[in-house]
Amino acid sequence: MERVALLRTSGRRLLHRCRRGRPVVPAAAASSLARRPLPSSFPSRGYSALPGGGARFLAAAAPLHCSGRYWPAATPRLARRLTAPAVSTSPSPAAYDTDYVHEYAAKLGFEKVSEQTIEECKSTAVLYKHKKTGAEVMSVSNDDENKVFGIVFRTPPKNSTGIPHILEHSVLCGSRKYPLKEPFVELLKGSLHTFLNAFTYPDRTCYPVASTNTKDFYNLVDVYLDAVFFPNCVEDFQTFQQEGWHYELDNPEEEITFKGVVFNEMKGVYSQPDNIMGRVSQQALSPENTYGVDSGGDPHEIPKLTFEEFKEFHRKFYHPSNARIWFYGDDDPKERLRVLSDYLDQFEASPAPNESKVLPQRLFKEPVRVIEKYPAGQEGDLTKKYMVCMNWLLSEEPLDVETELTLGFLDHLLLGTPASPLRRILLESGLGDAIVGGGVEDELLQPQFSIGLKGVSEENLQKVEELVMETLKNLAEEGFASEAVEASMNTIEFALRENNTGSFPRGLSLMLRSIAKWIYDMDPFEPLKYEQPLQQLKACIAEEGSKAVFSPLIEKYILKNMHRVTVEMQPDPEKASRDEAAEKEMLKQVKASMTQSDLAELARATKELKEKQETPDPPEALKAVPSLSLQDIPKKPIHIPIEIGEINGVKVLQHDLFTNDVVYSEVVFDMGSMKKEHLQLLPLFCQSLLEMGTKDMDFVQLNQLIGRKTGGISVYPFTSSVMGKEDPLTRIIVRGKAMAPRVEDLFNLMYTILQDVQFTEQQRFKQFVSQSKARMENRLRGSGHGIAASRMDAKLNAAGWIAEQMGGISYLEYLRDLETKIDQDWDSISSSLEEMRKTLFSKNCCLINLTSDWKNLEKSSQHIAKFLDSLPSSPSLGSDPWLSRLPSVNEAIVVPTQVNYVGKAGNIYQSGYQLNGSAYVISKHISNTWLWDRVRVSGGAYGGFCDFDTHSGVFSYLSYRDPNLLKTLEVYDETAKFLRELEMDDDALTKAIIGTIGDVDAYQLPDAKGYSSLLRYLLGITEEERQQRREEILSTSLKDFKEFADAVESIKDNGVVVAVASPDDVEAANKEKLVFPEVKKCL
Ligand SMILES: [Zn+2]
Repeated sequence: MERVALLRTSGRRLLHRCRRGRPVVPAAAASSLARRPLPSSFPSRGYSALPGGGARFLAAAAPLHCSGRYWPAATPRLARRLTAPAVSTSPSPAAYDTDYVHEYAAKLGFEKVSEQTIEECKSTAVLYKHKKTGAEVMSVSNDDENKVFGIVFRTPPKNSTGIPHILEHSVLCGSRKYPLKEPFVELLKGSLHTFLNAFTYPDRTCYPVASTNTKDFYNLVDVYLDAVFFPNCVEDFQTFQQEGWHYELDNPEEEITFKGVVFNEMKGVYSQPDNIMGRVSQQALSPENTYGVDSGGDPHEIPKLTFEEFKEFHRKFYHPSNARIWFYGDDDPKERLRVLSDYLDQFEASPAPNESKVLPQRLFKEPVRVIEKYPAGQEGDLTKKYMVCMNWLLSEEPLDVETELTLGFLDHLLLGTPASPLRRILLESGLGDAIVGGGVEDELLQPQFSIGLKGVSEENLQKVEELVMETLKNLAEEGFASEAVEASMNTIEFALRENNTGSFPRGLSLMLRSIAKWIYDMDPFEPLKYEQPLQQLKACIAEEGSKAVFSPLIEKYILKNMHRVTVEMQPDPEKASRDEAAEKEMLKQVKASMTQSDLAELARATKELKEKQETPDPPEALKAVPSLSLQDIPKKPIHIPIEIGEINGVKVLQHDLFTNDVVYSEVVFDMGSMKKEHLQLLPLFCQSLLEMGTKDMDFVQLNQLIGRKTGGISVYPFTSSVMGKEDPLTRIIVRGKAMAPRVEDLFNLMYTILQDVQFTEQQRFKQFVSQSKARMENRLRGSGHGIAASRMDAKLNAAGWIAEQMGGISYLEYLRDLETKIDQDWDSISSSLEEMRKTLFSKNCCLINLTSDWKNLEKSSQHIAKFLDSLPSSPSLGSDPWLSRLPSVNEAIVVPTQVNYVGKAGNIYQSGYQLNGSAYVISKHISNTWLWDRVRVSGGAYGGFCDFDTHSGVFSYLSYRDPNLLKTLEVYDETAKFLRELEMDDDALTKAIIGTIGDVDAYQLPDAKGYSSLLRYLLGITEEERQQRREEILSTSLKDFKEFADAVESIKDNGVVVAVASPDDVEAANKEKLVFPEVKKCL
């Protein structure tokens, strides 16, 4: 049914992703490069590959931060939004004897419902029904080695106590067959998974895993199946307390506090204005059904949840009759059914499917307006910090295929690129700083459309609403430019063909699309097939013109649709402290109502819970979790072909990889020749290259041309330390992709961007500044750990300093000044931009990287030669190296939040530590055991982890949505002690090694492989060094752990601390001991 899934917007609403990416380049690991960090701000709505519709991830399991490096924010949006179905990267579909499989299935009690060949993903898909329980299974077979399993339950909540979310966390805390504290963590530590997490949507809960290793894959599947059907949490009150909520009291004299992983995770979510906006909009759009409450949990409501309700919810909904199960990849389809039947056969049919049905919201007769307050800081002019968003529920009934597809296109036409009219007109109006609302959202039962602005003055709220309506009305009357329609069409087709899901498994992205219909009892195959309706839509546009296609949709679904909810959000500088005070007051009353013996009992229970949390699992229990052995691990690192040649005197790296006829290219320039004073302008310079016009074209035309001819172009700075060198690596990377016949166009467009774009559009530039500022402010609340990491890095090394200047607090301060400067001194800014172009883009300091198959690579050379010839060659100016640092002082960055982000870091090379591959194993182990147990499990934070940047030597600790501050620092400081006292048997050590290899060998699509190889080349990491690190990883011993203790000990004494935290917590910490000589207010 679901074509619009192709164009699915994702990452809107209550979604917050806890990814594991870190853009550093470990010598041994290629992995992190594939994980492009996700922009956290709204206009760049996340990557398609991730679930949208308000899904929430289980684990901030490992590093979440981006080391403060600046990353592209200006890549064409659609490329990030599309989830294309899997087109196998190798040319032939898998074949197997289907009759034989069906016979086998019947024997196991599965009935074949339907079998279809899906050309779009070169797969055979069979839908089975388990006769006894009614469980449905999609078994998708093809030759993709990145196998995916997922089990999904329909879990619509009736209130906002967060049951589905807490259950999602809890079922992975031990089960019948795997009776240990957290099998999930054991899998994180010791498997080769390419994906492992769980997410809660407003109406369903998903448990997906992926691996390229078959044995590993089935290990993961078994642990997950046992976890969802037979979890220990339904008998264990303490797990409910730990993951959900509980009162904590260390001794009867102290105050009672709330603790719980989900409780604190949600406090973080409720501190972010964009999240509040998404939640309020969704709830107001659907007041009558399950979407009127928050499946994630409202921190005010979570403490109302009882253990009885929690158990009952599991009993009712985590049942095969209410399950949809997905298998995908090149494994044996018989084995899938065999494993499943073992579990499913243990159940009888249940009435759950009736009880879990999601009912539609009836459409309103009249629009609704909602006003909500959000916690704002004291900084800046509050009257300019309003937000407004208009939302429509599009239909009461499910839409037909064609309509959904067309709506998806319409969404791209309206909002998909900076040149798209609705987006452009809203931003150019100057009425607000940045876009909110994600356009068309279609992952829930009824599709919706949302759009608005933030950073709006109170008196302009009305004007924003009028402008939205007027723009849509004009577009309905006048239609879209044919160039715009062509550009959208090409962009969408390109993305479908390329099917680039980044580091997200293709089979998982496919599963999420299928589930979005299947979960409502609709056809699970339809969302996988896009070719025919796409061709129909194209033909329809060709015959009737685009206006005839799109105008009626705008009319019907938006302009004349009375089911409209306008949400206005008002900044409230008191809200954060009021909420905090209310919580304290409530806890005080709880305490007052308790007798002395109640209090003693609570203190005892608190102690018992902590002891349980801090006691390691017995080795026998750990052995229950299946693991690979070192024999299963390849001895050599993953090989990426590279040929280093020259064209017209310029170095060209080529990677011969099968890419389905897409050519990926990076043109790399040295930043060193740039004047130092221009550094902070650089991100805006990059954005200007892509979003300003030339002499002959305005920026809309230029953007459309890029959309029509290529798969997208982005420009961004890249910085990193280089091991053993003072001087950091500083580059500008121009990244682009195109189908092979259009490589010439790609390089022509790159030339246009680099040489012809005019830096004359003052108003546009001003918009870039407001958008960047809004994005930075959003990061400060939602990804404070990234801000803290970047700040620490800036205090410890030059690359970190540069990155912080372009993406940290320093950058935010710069943007605030720049905003006024644009009006006063635009000419000097404009001429600086021009000067930057002259110094940066010269043939002399250029390098080209290409990834495609050899025949495309060969054909591309002539276009590259022409491109290089046209670049100016200016004499290298030579310049001073970048060696600045921020003062090495502990610092607190105060923001209006209820949870903190606490960091501490130091350079361990300076303490004499010399890099050994074992460091990867050890730092992963510290994250997954010591920090996970102390910062998350007993500390109650959503995440705690460490990160070792092997290029600079900076080792950092970070916590995420953390109720503590000083306590967390104490945990960091005890890490050396933890290592010295560590006992580890061979099994545990082997697991740690295998888990590390899993990171190092992370699955990469061809473009990511070519890019990793480029970065290794730039950083001087050789194949010999990779081999050596791998051998060191494989031979890691307990002795290495003990030796590493000395290195981390130096951080305890000489490290630097940065926390992004609430004012109260910082004040309290400083009262206890002066941790933060510097306190900075940023919001
Ligand atoms: Zn969660």
